[in-house]
Amino acid sequence: MKGFIETSFLDWKGFISSVLFLPGCNFACPFCHNFQLVSDPASVATLPVDWVLERLGPFAGWIDGVVITGGEPTLHPGLPLFIEKFRQAGFKIKLDTNGTNPAMVKQLVADKMVDLVAMDIKAPTDQLSYRRAAGKVVDLEKVLETMAFLKSGACAHEFRSTIWPAWHGVKELAEMADQLQGCQAWSLQALNPETAWNPEALGMGKPYTAEQIADLQRELADPVCKKEMK
Ligand code: SF4
Repeated sequence: MKGFIETSFLDWKGFISSVLFLPGCNFACPFCHNFQLVSDPASVATLPVDWVLERLGPFAGWIDGVVITGGEPTLHPGLPLFIEKFRQAGFKIKLDTNGTNPAMVKQLVADKMVDLVAMDIKAPTDQLSYRRAAGKVVDLEKVLETMAFLKSGACAHEFRSTIWPAWHGVKELAEMADQLQGCQAWSLQALNPETAWNPEALGMGKPYTAEQIADLQRELADPVCKKEMK
């Protein structure tokens, strides 16, 4: 594990959570703000799992759950064992993923190891748009498989999109909304070029304002979502 936030009120809506960061990612999103974990994980100190469990021990019952993020957590074959340690300590689990490992997500859900899966949707799922947002050629079949699995209602889920006006205009957002129709939750956030890994790749432009994001959330994203969470 490469990072640890003891208490967060932001990373799991309605929950007090701790956030655990795992290294490495198979994407290179130009807007990534955890890029040290992606480009040079060896430069970030490794935290022993047992040390983190010891730190969290006194908070069991106060902290509702643990958010496992990265990087891309599902790249690690040992993820189920890692999660199991926190479940045994009494924590609920939220998993953040870019959706490229549907087999891992399905297995974790089948084994009842996760309480919420949050998947990033980077762009409309055509190769050009996705490649620009993810910074790499993406196996879109895998992304679509994870999306469809979550949308089927197999587990509580949310989709998240970090949007940039030049890449996510009316047409692109409408395409994404079409694809996410019927999901449980879809949240939008503005891309922040100031914390971006590769701001040059974003080209010219200004981010969406907080007001524009709130309008898009209310008028575009929320209406595609079913209200109930399993
Ligand atoms: S998928 Fe997430 S962690 Fe990976 S490069 Fe993109 S923003 Fe960064």
